[in-house]
Formats: sequence, structure tokens, C-alpha cells
Amino acid sequence: MRKSLIAVAIGAALTVAACADKEAAQTTEQQAEQQVQQAEQQTAAATFNESNPFYAESTLPFHAPDFTQIEFAHYEPALLAGMEQHTAEIEAIANNPEPATFENTIVAMEKSGALLGRVSSVFGNVAGSAGNDDFRALQVKMAPKYAAHGDNISLNPDLFARVKTVYENRDQFEGEELRLIEDTYKGFVRAGAELNEEQKARIREINSELSSLTTEFRNNLMSLVDENMVVVEDKAELAGLSDSQIAQLAATAEAKDMSGKYVITVTNTTRQPILQSLENRELREKVWRASAERGSGNTATDNRPLVKQMAQLRAEKAQLLGYENWGAYVLEQSMAATPSAAQQMLRDLVPAVVSNVEAEMAEIQQVIDGEGGDFEVQPWDWAYYAEKVRAEKYALDSNEVKQYFEFNRVVEDGVFYAMNQLFGITFEKRDDIPTYADDIVVYEVKDVNGESLGLFYGDWFTRDGKRGGAWMSSFVSQSHLLGNKPVILNNMNITKAPDGEPTLLSFDEVSTMFHEMGHALHGMFSDVTYPSLAGTSVSRDYVEFPSTFQEDWTLNPKVIANMAKHHETGEQIPQELLDKVMAAKNFNMGYDTLEYIAAALLDLEYHTLTPDSAAGIADVNSFEQAALTRNGVAVEAVPPRYKSNFFAHVFAGGYSAGYYAYMWSEVLAADAFKFVQDNGGLTLENGQAFRDAILSKGNSKDPMQQYIDFRGQKPTVDALLERRGLTAPTID
Ligand SMILES: [Zn+2]
Repeated sequence: MRKSLIAVAIGAALTVAACADKEAAQTTEQQAEQQVQQAEQQTAAATFNESNPFYAESTLPFHAPDFTQIEFAHYEPALLAGMEQHTAEIEAIANNPEPATFENTIVAMEKSGALLGRVSSVFGNVAGSAGNDDFRALQVKMAPKYAAHGDNISLNPDLFARVKTVYENRDQFEGEELRLIEDTYKGFVRAGAELNEEQKARIREINSELSSLTTEFRNNLMSLVDENMVVVEDKAELAGLSDSQIAQLAATAEAKDMSGKYVITVTNTTRQPILQSLENRELREKVWRASAERGSGNTATDNRPLVKQMAQLRAEKAQLLGYENWGAYVLEQSMAATPSAAQQMLRDLVPAVVSNVEAEMAEIQQVIDGEGGDFEVQPWDWAYYAEKVRAEKYALDSNEVKQYFEFNRVVEDGVFYAMNQLFGITFEKRDDIPTYADDIVVYEVKDVNGESLGLFYGDWFTRDGKRGGAWMSSFVSQSHLLGNKPVILNNMNITKAPDGEPTLLSFDEVSTMFHEMGHALHGMFSDVTYPSLAGTSVSRDYVEFPSTFQEDWTLNPKVIANMAKHHETGEQIPQELLDKVMAAKNFNMGYDTLEYIAAALLDLEYHTLTPDSAAGIADVNSFEQAALTRNGVAVEAVPPRYKSNFFAHVFAGGYSAGYYAYMWSEVLAADAFKFVQDNGGLTLENGQAFRDAILSKGNSKDPMQQYIDFRGQKPTVDALLERRGLTAPTID
């Protein structure tokens, strides 16, 4: 993800967590409190002294946090003192009587905020991996202070004047320095630093309105769940569900004072998981309509006006800042660079994807016809009949697969082995480094020549207080300027087997472990000078590329031979079973891909409007339909994954004009992996080339240039289609 302005401002301070929690919509448009509460800060700062373990840099190897000393009570005073110290450093830079230079302005900013960086990286990580209500309460308390702190820096006119001076003299710089200057300058400009007072006032108004609308949209989503619940009176209508599913629906009804009935609530995607089991076609249609039509004026809560207003305000803000539209503003700092590049990538996929959807649809229609159903497949039928096709053609016993993926073997003989074959690196356990919870293993990562690269924490198991999903983050970012080697974490939510029993992993978990290691090595191999350009601090459409690339070693024959052995017999996984895993992986991929592309294109349609054209939207539902048709993705049985009125990523979160990013990264990953496969596969030469061009560069070089340096050309979508099993569709 792109670092926020506050991260730019505090240089080394905030660690950037690369996501695997792919569907988590993030909020970045929260309204900032304008004033940090000075009195409280002074009191807290007064209690901050040498006894606080964050007071000085950790003396442990690699400045690893000393968890034998850190207690919850240390965080708040250290965070407040960190902001205070950082503010003083920034003031000193802004008020420096010397003329502005790269060294005394940009580099000085990179060096600032050390204490804040130290404490916030530990606080953020522990809160997410082993937090409790106290952590969450402190996060809520600190959020507006962080936001105000960031604003105080980005809206400091004296600081901006100096940054601008350096920017205007940038022709004497090149490479990483030049990129840092441009990046820092743009961060200020994008926040409105160049505007006149009247324009700034309008930007503030727009920000405030957008923030309220975002909150309203998010709250409406919750009301819409209640308004669109489907109440079933007769248990017989629930045929196809398991006893425990039915019990769950009865419990939901009871909680809503409807004892004796059954309540189905909608999840926040157009498709509803329950539809794959419900035999009753009328009920399926009812549930699907409750989902797809929510927020479109069918009940009291109507999100259509909010969608229109947000599209309009974003367009206006973009134009005030000098951009053609919101998409151009958002994508300027992404790899795609323009909305049209993102649209082109998605549209390139459409013909192959639609033809696969047609093949899948024909298979489904065959089942319907075979059962004597006298109807054409509708969106509420798809999952139900697809499930029948799957059971018939791709029956896979996931429990059988698990027997071949024992946790320790996957870590040591799978992930570490593959990374050793590709990069020559080794992982050595460090029992002397303290951790924030049990079951975390720390490794020192050694380079091919035996030199230390940094520390890697494997926090793979689930625990109370850990958020869901899997992710990578860091305690310390690599930087030559600060002399820091990286200290990196991987988090997952694997359920540990009881003592004495082996922990067996699903194929998805194995593949996720490779994915997160891909992020980890993006941080670990970082070889840049300036901390704000290190490792995974790249744009959102690029950050998932190195991780998705590593996923595909999971099925490499050499890696499989070394890793996938039966936990009791030591026997190799049978090829036949592996083939089934592959086939099951790509099942229904036409549908999955089309519903994603349709939503991503819809997002870009809203965000390439001018303020006037947004204001001219007569009806959101018909705008949506026209947009899908215009892009060739209007397939009635395969609606977009999110429709406008509940597209939370885009209207309640921070993904506006950015939903395409997941696919963009996957296009790169597939294209790069195919290139490596065609040139020898799992070899040190390939690893070195990938490391030199991509993994070592962080954000110190334009991402498309990094890619071309590695690949010799821009990516095409061909390998992505192959990766998803979407080539050469056949109808049988
Ligand atoms: Zn990821």
C-alpha cells in the first residue's frame, strides 16, 4: 500500500503492513481532530523517562524490541512523547535559518520521528497479533491524534516552502535521491499545499463532507442488513442446509425476538454463501434479491444519493488539485499511473473470461436441464448448480490432502527450502530474542555469503486477540541512512493441533505461507538508503506482486518432492491427488474473475467522471447497468461482486479507484513467474535477477521500470489467464 502522508512525514516512523487480508476495506478518510490535546500530552511526556523501554533504541541484536521490558503502560506516554519530539524536530527543520538543501530538509525529515517510529511499530504489531480491549481503546484514542499530527506536518507552510525549494532544484539529483524529493514534494501538493486560501477552505469542506458521507454509507450498510433479512416461517423451505446451519438461523431469529422462525441475513457481497445449499428456488431468489437490491430504494435506507454525492465531491476535489478526475488523482502514484491503464488491463481480460463463463454456464445449464428444470440459469441458481458440477467433476477430499502438509515440514522443507534454492538464504533459529507471545519463532536470515540480512518472526498460529487473516509487517525497516537492518514479521491464523499431535495444513494455508514469505523477503532484501522508500512501501497495485509471485512455488515439483510427505508414512503425495488440487483450485474461476472485473470496472467508471457528469447521474442503478454494458461485462447470471449501493471498498473505505489493484498485482506475478519458469525455474540465477531488479528496490525506483528491468518488457495478461485456468475453454 502507498504510505499515507503521515508516514511520509514521519519518515522511518510507521511500518507499512503488506496486506493479505484482501477484502478488508480500510478507512483512510476519517476526519482528523484539529488539535492535539496539549495538556494531556505534557502530562504524559512528563511521565516518560529512562525507565520506559522505548526511551532509547533497543540494544538487542538488530534493535529487536525487548519484550522482557515492555508493558502496556509504556505505550501511551511513549506515543505522546514521540509525537511531541517529532513535532519539535519538524519545527526545527521548518524554521532553520540556513537556505533549504536536500540534506537539511528532506534527509532531516527522513531522520525525524525515531521515537514515534520505534513505539508505533511495536504498538501496531502487538495490538494486531496479541491485543485486547485496552489496546483497542488506546488505538481509538490515538487515531485522531495521529491524524492531527500528520496534518500539522503536511499543512506547515514553512516546511512546504523549503521542500518546494529543494524540488525546484532537483535537476542536480538522480536515482533514489530524485525519487525521494519528488515523492516528498508530491505528498504535500496532493494534500493541497499549493492551493490558495479559498481553495484550501473548499478542500477542507469537501474532506469533511466526504468523511461524513463515508461514515453514513458504512452505517447504512449495517441498517441494510436488518432491513433485508429474509424471514422463513416453514422449516421445510430450508431443505439442503445442514442441521447446524438451520440451528444458526433459528438462533438469529431468536436474537431478533422471532422465536420459532428462521432468519437469513445477507453478507456484504452480491453472492451469498447460503445459495449454494438452498434447494428451494423461490427462497434462493428472495435471498439473492435481498442482497443485490439492498440500498437501491427497495427499503427505507437508500444509498443511491450517497454514491452520487461522493462521486461528485471526489471529482470536484480532484479538479481543484489539478487532476482531470478522481481516478487520475488516486492513480498518479500507483504503478498503473492512469485510470485508462487500469481499465485497459481489465478489458484485456474480458473476452477470455466471458468465454470461460459461457462454458461454465453451459455445464450448469446441462445439470438444470438434466433435472428437468424448465428455466435458464439465473444469478440465484449459479452457486447451487455449480456445487453439483463441482461434486461430480472435481471431488476432492481436503482432509486427505492435509495429511501431506505437516506444519514444520512445510516451514522448513517447503518455504525455507524454496527460498534457499532461489536466493541461497538460510534461516537460523534465535532462541535468545524475546517475543510478545508464545508460539512465535524468531530466525536470523543469512545471505548466500553467510552475512546477516535481518530477523524474521514467524507468528503463524491463531490466538485470542489476534485479528483474522494473514499479513506481513515489521518492527524495523531497512535503511542505510539510519544503519538499520530489517526486522520482519509474518502473521497467520493457523489452528495449532493439541500437544503431541501434528498440525496439518490445508493447501490454501500452505500457499498463504509462501505468499507472506514473499512480502517478508520484499522487506528483508530491501537495499535502499532512505527509510520511507524501503521494502513494501510501494503502491497498492504493486505490493501484492512479490508475494503472489512466491505463491506459485507451492506446486513446483522440486518443492513438492521435498515438502509434501505423509506425516505418518513419509510417503510422497500422489500425483493424482495433486492434479485434483489443481483442478479444484481453478473451478468456477470464470465466474470468480468476471464478478471481480465487473466490480473493478464499475469503480473506475464512477471515478473517471467530471463533477458535472457525476451530478448528472439520474439513477445509480441505471448508471451501473450502462457502465457494465459499456465494458462488455454485463452478464445477467454473473453480477459484479459488489454493486454500487453496497460497494464498501469504494464508498465506505479507502479503495476508491483502487479495487483493480489486486488483479494488477496478479497480472505481474503471473507474467513474472511464467518468465522464470521459461528460463530455468527454481535457480539462484533467477532469484538473484528478481532480487536485484525488484526485491531490493522498495519504492526507490519507478515500479514499471523495475518490472521492465527484470522482465525485459511490460507484462501482458496471458500468463494470468493461464494461472487462473482460463485459457482454451472447452464445452463438453
Ligand atoms: Zn499479500
